[in-house]
Amino acid sequence: MSIIEKINLYAKTRSNVVACYNYSHDQVVQSLTYKELVDFSDKLGFYLQKTLGDNKNPIVVYGHKNPYMLVCFLACVKSGRAYVPVDISVPKERVKDIVDATNTPLVLCTESTELLFDNVIHLDEIKDIINVTDKKITSDYYVKAEDIFYIIFTSGSTGNPKGVRITEQCLINFIRWAVTLGEKNFADKQVTIINQAPFSFDLSVMDLYMSLYLGGTLWCLEKSAQSNYGVMYESLKKSNANIMVSTPSFANLCLSGDVFDKNLMPKMELFLFCGETLPNSTAKQLLDRFPKANVINTYGPTESTVAVTEIDVTHEILKGYNPLPVGEVKPGTHIFIQDESGNLLPEGDKGEIVIVGDTVSPGYLNAPNISFSKKKVGKKLYRSYRTGDKGYIKDGYIFYCGRMDSQIKLHGYRIEIEDIENNLQKLPIIKNAAVIPVENSGAIDYLVAFVVVDFEVESSLKASVVIKKGLQRFLPQYMVPKKFVFKDALPITDRGKIDRRKLKEEVA
Ligand code: AMP
Repeated sequence: MSIIEKINLYAKTRSNVVACYNYSHDQVVQSLTYKELVDFSDKLGFYLQKTLGDNKNPIVVYGHKNPYMLVCFLACVKSGRAYVPVDISVPKERVKDIVDATNTPLVLCTESTELLFDNVIHLDEIKDIINVTDKKITSDYYVKAEDIFYIIFTSGSTGNPKGVRITEQCLINFIRWAVTLGEKNFADKQVTIINQAPFSFDLSVMDLYMSLYLGGTLWCLEKSAQSNYGVMYESLKKSNANIMVSTPSFANLCLSGDVFDKNLMPKMELFLFCGETLPNSTAKQLLDRFPKANVINTYGPTESTVAVTEIDVTHEILKGYNPLPVGEVKPGTHIFIQDESGNLLPEGDKGEIVIVGDTVSPGYLNAPNISFSKKKVGKKLYRSYRTGDKGYIKDGYIFYCGRMDSQIKLHGYRIEIEDIENNLQKLPIIKNAAVIPVENSGAIDYLVAFVVVDFEVESSLKASVVIKKGLQRFLPQYMVPKKFVFKDALPITDRGKIDRRKLKEEVA
């Protein structure tokens, strides 16, 4: 059964179960039941097909954690179109890049934000469309198998975000495995899953589709709830959730308050992590504070549908490994460690992690890339993706040990350093720029931009504010460097490149 068919079924078998719940900072509760989700998406799907006909281009869905985001996602795929989730944290200029790249025929918008595009359908209009029609899309139109289900845009080194295309088959292959994590057999239970990541990040695919596949409740934590401890803990308590999907950075935020334990969330039985290194200390604190819960570390890039490895981080694993492994590869996927020439490396040797399997994307939107290819394993031909991650295999586990390029993770967010530098260069006042990540206890803590500007800097503080404001037009807040250092010129190596080592020494 396809994911869409499975969700449709819950409109009958779990009709009044809440599919998505959003408890915002001002305590306004937004929710939709399975019956509503399926009914509304059928009707909006019908409208999309009637309006757009043969135009099967992907559809941008702009918003945050409103449950109607799910209605829009499902309406798109029911009408045979991929959806492109874009969070409100993405500035307008970058949304425009995405709108241009996807050639979207319309933007579905669930926030009351001014979007300066033709063909924006706002939430009120979406509700009107649903209210006035009785007609529903039929399953003939559904996205299926190798059709693209969603496109997630991620930081690109050119300065423009790149769209990762994920097929329906990739998604179902991923979800069938994801619901087995922790071996809890959730199929017969009523689960509530915490959603932390915005829908424009692929981590959210894990909580969203695990929840919909299991007929569970997705409990969304709004951005505003994540920046206010009181609201965050209150929401977590009210959720009564049994699964939480988040980055380790977010778990650390939760753990910074003593209240975050089994008394706050007595039903918690599974913490699922992906996206960045899970520190031993984070996993240990969770096991201590939630003795009945499993802590699972998973690893993978957006390009291979969220995650491809798993490890149950038990006390034994914690004792045996520091840093922790990212685990064993999932069924249907193979991981190889390669040297620069593409030769397979033996166990224990460090090299590039290559993912070969049934969740690998068919590639970026409009941008063929040499990282993607095909590879035969046994008799089966799979898609293959060179991750740019360094790793090795030991004791049957895969270990992650950093990047081969300048991609970083900052508080769980994937960022190409060149993306920031190229957007700095878009500001007319910038003559030259280099961005350096500053580490603290093995993780990146913040970014420093070394800049050469075309004006006399009287106050570094004032000049930094000007540049930050300029950059915020193009980049989401998490990509804007925290500190700016003004230079007359950037140091250069013998080969004529920016001497990043020297700049790093300045911030050490
Ligand atoms: P994203 O596409 O945002 O999920 O980012 C993918 C990248 O995050 C990977 O290529 C890795 O560099 C990093 N990553 C993902 N999972 C883990 C993990 N469990 N431990 C360390 N790094 C990870």
